[in-house]
Amino acid sequence: MAYQDMISTPFAVIKKQAEILDENDTLQTYKRLFALPENCVYLDGNSLGALPICAKQRAIDVVEQQWGRDLITSWNKHQWIDLPTKVGEKIARLIGAAKGQTICCDSISVNLFKLVCAALAMQPGRNVVLSQTDNFPTDLYMVQGIEQLLGQQCCTLKTVPADELVSGLNEDVAVLLLTQVNYRTGYIHDMEKITKLAHEKGIIVIWDLAHSAGVLDLKLDQCAVDFAVGCTYKYLNGGPGAPGFMYVAKRHQPVLKQPLSGWMGHSNPFEFTAEFVAKNNVEQCLTGTPTIISMSILDAALDVFDEVSMLEVAKKSQKLTDFFMTGMSTLKLDSIFECISPQKSAHRGSQVALNHPYSYAICQALIAQNVIADFRAPDTLRLGFAPLYVSYADVATALLKLAEIVQTKAYLRAEFNQQSKVT
Ligand SMILES: *Cc1c(COP(=O)(O)O)cnc(C)c1O
Repeated sequence: MAYQDMISTPFAVIKKQAEILDENDTLQTYKRLFALPENCVYLDGNSLGALPICAKQRAIDVVEQQWGRDLITSWNKHQWIDLPTKVGEKIARLIGAAKGQTICCDSISVNLFKLVCAALAMQPGRNVVLSQTDNFPTDLYMVQGIEQLLGQQCCTLKTVPADELVSGLNEDVAVLLLTQVNYRTGYIHDMEKITKLAHEKGIIVIWDLAHSAGVLDLKLDQCAVDFAVGCTYKYLNGGPGAPGFMYVAKRHQPVLKQPLSGWMGHSNPFEFTAEFVAKNNVEQCLTGTPTIISMSILDAALDVFDEVSMLEVAKKSQKLTDFFMTGMSTLKLDSIFECISPQKSAHRGSQVALNHPYSYAICQALIAQNVIADFRAPDTLRLGFAPLYVSYADVATALLKLAEIVQTKAYLRAEFNQQSKVT
């Protein structure tokens, strides 16, 4: 029997299930707020979120009206100067943070530099920064740079596999630096539990929320988190290169000393004094002039989340990935790919990662079929499911295309095997 015929019945079932799930989806109306190309199944919101229509309008307004017409008066007239705080507070609601602790600025990499240095300075007598071997590389690279700058007696990076993290918490560790959702597998760490265990040993914890913010129901205050960083171009849909954010718990703000002491973190930047005096709140984390165009677009993009319950978003995220994984087994794709994402939905972020020797070419073949996913070296196909604009029908389409590509071995074609600079 031809494969097409073999899968047509199970696929019809999947399609029908998708219809019912979409009808009952409380978030289904949000897809309309995004300017997605027609017939495109976008499963890469974990790398670059889709464009909200309101963000596009703001981009035009900030360039044409604010910059073009009002020029420098916009710093006051359009409150450009308040954007890092205003945007920070919009993000705060989405991560479970009370006011005055979240600020928008720079990138995760730069913000980690500030916070790792600040946290080390708060831990005299300790020098170890403990992290996970398969953490996102930039997190480890930044600590390696600090190690070089301060010397190993002040900063020593130690990395261990995930299952050795808890046993690695001891009195030498100054800082535990963890990404909550693994960028490759999607495994979610228990933020509350790990933070508590670390605190029992006097360790400060810095959480990287790159794959958490905008998709998980985060409760930073409730988990007694010390510090966190995140980016906004993934699930928060802020656009390519949109600025990141930092969270500094209120209790640490009076003693915090971050090394990138630029004028925007000064208690009175427009007095132009020669001596640096830090602001006494989270704004002390700012360094230079904010990227106004990018931050304005992000400010508008966050309005999409205005009425959204993050609990609903997190629930749909689990349902989408569950639906995809069940569909894989219905179509017998689970014997072709090795799924490296957790089987339990409660441990799984909003993505499914599949290993296959030809995953790069499979990803390219999917893209040629208008199903956008990405590839992470050496052999992982990553599919991200952003709950605000991915429908169950989209998931069904992705499953069908994936099954076809695997069956026809389309991935062997030369055109799908040419490596680009960005994967
Ligand atoms: C995407 C991502 C980053 C990106 O860092 P930038 O400095 O914003 O480029 C950092 N950490 C993790 C875990 C990521 O997934």
